[in-house]
Amino acid sequence: MILGVDIGGTNIDIVVYDGEFRHVATYPTKETLTKLNEILNDLIERFNVKAVGIGLAAWIKRGKIVKMPNISGKFEISLKVPFVLDNDANCFALYSAKHFGLKNVIAITVGTGIGSGIVMDCRLIHGEGLAGEIGHWFVGGDEECTCGGKGHLEANFGGWSIRKRFGRDAKDLLEDGSIYRIEGFKLMCIAVANAITLLDPEAVVFGGRIGGNLDPQILKSEIYRYLMAGFEPEILTLKDPLAVAKGASLLVEEQM
Ligand SMILES: [Zn+2]
Repeated sequence: MILGVDIGGTNIDIVVYDGEFRHVATYPTKETLTKLNEILNDLIERFNVKAVGIGLAAWIKRGKIVKMPNISGKFEISLKVPFVLDNDANCFALYSAKHFGLKNVIAITVGTGIGSGIVMDCRLIHGEGLAGEIGHWFVGGDEECTCGGKGHLEANFGGWSIRKRFGRDAKDLLEDGSIYRIEGFKLMCIAVANAITLLDPEAVVFGGRIGGNLDPQILKSEIYRYLMAGFEPEILTLKDPLAVAKGASLLVEEQM
């Protein structure tokens, strides 16, 4: 039995996995972080867990957290069993590959921020640790980003930047369809087309509160405008709110 944990900016989702996924708990991050070890160690005992996979909204380099822009408060993970830690978008990519039966996939999460994970030949690509940070590609302009940079994709199309620019939640722009007409949408599709040209995946999977609710047909027609003939990835969306926690449990098989 494996425990999969998604530590996000708002909630912590936990699943158990033994070939099938089962949701066991969801907690608010802010109130839970200080007692997380205690909660996880209890679950480890209760479900006879052998290892834990943790997906975290953070930049992780060689197993160390470099920066956690959306989670406040410090914490150290200390568990009774071995655990593996990875970026949440990487967990989403791993689960997307399994869910759709893909060997080569680029997964993009668009929520408050923009993240991405790359699976090639069924393996996550980390590089030196930070591979796949599409949200922090320079796409033009001088809009300030949460990372300290300027003109990044996330500063043009992340949930926080949409709210800042338009004074409305991205959900409203999705509902009336205006999200497809903002410049940030076009910039994201160009960035994705460039990523496809670099990696030639079988599919691109969009997830997250905004990404998972985009229209795959509209995404496809916009992305394909910027693609060279010969590249033909499927463009998919995945709405499962537990996708990161499920992917975190798959980290154990992949990396241990
Ligand atoms: Zn940035």
